[in-house]
Amino acid sequence: DVKHRQKGSLGIYQDRLTLASQRRLALSLRLRRALEAQTSPQGTPQDGAITLAYQPQIDRDGTLFGLEALARWTDPDLGQIAPGEFVSLAEEQGLIGKLGQFVLRRACHDGAAWIAAGVPIGGMAVNVSGLQIRSPGFVKQVSQSLEDTGFPAEKLELELTESAFLGRESEVLPIFESLKALGVKLAIDDFGTGYSSMSYLPVLPWDTLKIDRSFLTLPPDNPRRNALIEAITRMAKGLGLRVIAEGVETDDQHTALMALGCDAFQGFLYARPLPAIEIETFCAGRAEPKARAAST
Ligand code: C2E
Ligand code: MG
Ligand code: MG
Ligand code: MG
Repeated sequence: DVKHRQKGSLGIYQDRLTLASQRRLALSLRLRRALEAQTSPQGTPQDGAITLAYQPQIDRDGTLFGLEALARWTDPDLGQIAPGEFVSLAEEQGLIGKLGQFVLRRACHDGAAWIAAGVPIGGMAVNVSGLQIRSPGFVKQVSQSLEDTGFPAEKLELELTESAFLGRESEVLPIFESLKALGVKLAIDDFGTGYSSMSYLPVLPWDTLKIDRSFLTLPPDNPRRNALIEAITRMAKGLGLRVIAEGVETDDQHTALMALGCDAFQGFLYARPLPAIEIETFCAGRAEPKARAAST
């Protein structure tokens, strides 16, 4: 009887494994195809299954601080796939260079079009994976994307999570310095969730620190939560960095983060990641700080 049950559960375990690996195999083939269909020989982004959503970042006066470009993929048969799933798949399958290149060019292309149309987007933030930034030719890809689209380097910010550079500071430092020489900005993404090492902070040339949204899931009346956010914000400012709070969902969180000194805010309270066609309307409504607009 026991033997039977063990055999049975092993069978289920194997079925699950097979299902998971079958899905990954199917997804990797489809992702490869989607990326190929999307990128012309010249590397110009075209309309296709992979798109970008843009999530607004709001500054202290209510105007736009910037937009974060977030990749979206809808497979015709399998539906919408979460970035958490297809980004790691792309890394594993050697497709991250292609995906990253597409995202960078499309974000610069869209950003340049908005700037040319007088849309006050602030800056443009693009997520970059560790494998991507350390791949040979990455800096050249960035400078080429800026040149080809006319997007201003100073308005481009690359976001990296700790896993992208931790323990590899000496390897990434020259890459970061080359990017800084172009005028591009660098942000630490999801701060406070990684390995919580801080020795890299003064070693690498950061511009911005993004406080992870997990801090905001603590109750707002928890005094330790505010103490922690305030300490991170002070430390970041002491290092000359701008601070963005991620995952702001309520007015109370916004009020607390303002009081704690954050420079900018991003979250569902202001906007979900939006399709490109909705950005112009969103920005128009945010162009002038409310107080100033009312007094003139
Ligand atoms: P991230 O860079 O930290 O992006 C923020 C994520 O938080 C986004 O999830 C966004 O939709 C979500 N978010 C924003 N505001 C709120 C909020 O108020 N509440 C909650 N619960 N969530 C909020 P998304 O788009 O699913 O992306 C997940 C992650 O996938 C990103 O985290 C980023 O690490 C990665 N990713 C997305 N696009 C790219 C890309 O083009 N390249 C690379 N390398 N990674 C990407
Ligand atoms: Mg502003
Ligand atoms: Mg990010
Ligand atoms: Mg983040």
